[in-house]
Amino acid sequence: MVLLLRTISELRSYLKPYRQANQGTIGLVPTMGALHQGHLSLIAKAIAENRLVVVSIFVNPLQFAPQEDLANYPRQLEEDVQLCESMGVDLVFAPTPEEMDSRGDTGALNNKTTVVPPQSMTQVLCGKYRPAHFTGVASIVTQLFNIIQPDKAYFGQKDAQQLAIIRRLAQDLNIPVAIVPCPIIREASGLALSSRNQYLTELEKQQAAKIYHSLQQAKLAFIQGEINATALINLVKQKLAATEEVRIQYIELVDPFSLQSITQIKQTGLLAIAVYVGSTRLIDNIVLQKRQPIIAIDGPAGAGKSTVTRSLAHQLGLLYLDTGAMYRAVTWLVQSSGIAINDHQRSPIYFKI
Ligand code: AMP
Repeated sequence: MVLLLRTISELRSYLKPYRQANQGTIGLVPTMGALHQGHLSLIAKAIAENRLVVVSIFVNPLQFAPQEDLANYPRQLEEDVQLCESMGVDLVFAPTPEEMDSRGDTGALNNKTTVVPPQSMTQVLCGKYRPAHFTGVASIVTQLFNIIQPDKAYFGQKDAQQLAIIRRLAQDLNIPVAIVPCPIIREASGLALSSRNQYLTELEKQQAAKIYHSLQQAKLAFIQGEINATALINLVKQKLAATEEVRIQYIELVDPFSLQSITQIKQTGLLAIAVYVGSTRLIDNIVLQKRQPIIAIDGPAGAGKSTVTRSLAHQLGLLYLDTGAMYRAVTWLVQSSGIAINDHQRSPIYFKI
């Protein structure tokens, strides 16, 4: 049964004995509510990896500029709590702005102790257009980390700039929390799920799906060898030019960790975009990586190496190497090349049967 807690002291008094009894890890999923499948994927991961899961639901005024949609942002606490209940969440923490001492908007950041991430990360991408947004995010997330002291916290790749900034925050401030990135969940059309999609008409949703299609176009070019930032960006722009209802605010290729602009993809690049569809601002991104990391597990025959490796790779979205198949392939190569099995000079690798 999920417990809905509205105050910091209630939450602390629940968590303190739990932590003292050393009952297992605590996972935190910070959200602004209006939960959808994107949020639920973070929650499912948190539940799979922790003994106790806290979902915070807080529309943080400090990350909204005065002209933004704070007043209209969808709020549906009852429905959200029911969703959390059905997922098996332990605690929902839904404080008021007063409880978090975050009344106002980004302007109120001047009257509060704040956490200011490095300018190099906040003045790029969305930060150019939402100057105080990430200070608002970093301040509230730090507060949540301090109140809840989670072992792991789950953040969506959908907000790639936020993810990079929070990773950096935890590292710079030595906060003992593992930041767990989670893949973007999309509608069948390709549109990334977002609470703000509620603002879109059906027609606008169809137009917004073009964002992902255009990013996919860049991905295809990348797979075929295009690593130049300008060329990849232009491809997206050209593809979106056909849908004039989608107005690009920015499209940039950056390093996914430092968020600094890159001109070429050496290993990994984050192609991030923000657009307006009607009056709704949407963001999306894809990570372009030379190749995914490969998982390989070695061990005795029949130990379940392949099964475990395959399932791990599937869950983490990585490639896997079936070491059994690799040994068979190398044996075949050595034998068919006529190399003696104990000829270490000529064998491509030291190979022991
Ligand atoms: P929000 O409620 O929009 O602040 O989002 C809360 C968390 O859910 C953030 O870490 C987001 O990145 C994540 N999230 C939102 N939409 C998606 C999505 N479509 N796929 C994966 N994660 C998401």
